[in-house]
Amino acid sequence: MATCKRCGEKTIGHHECTYCANTYCPDHRLPENHDCSGVRGRETRGGRFEGGFDDSR
Ligand SMILES: [Zn+2]
Ligand SMILES: [Zn+2]
Repeated sequence: MATCKRCGEKTIGHHECTYCANTYCPDHRLPENHDCSGVRGRETRGGRFEGGFDDSR
């Protein structure tokens, strides 16, 4: 039996986050519910794609 990384609740089965690969209970399974490091890393980037195509407008 696994334990939720967020609240320490025991989880039945595996609820693994695809972004940070940690195990969470159904309540904290979503990235936004456990302060997911993977998703946060993207957001702090500013949500900009580094394409550089639309640079010279
Ligand atoms: Zn939890
Ligand atoms: Zn996560």
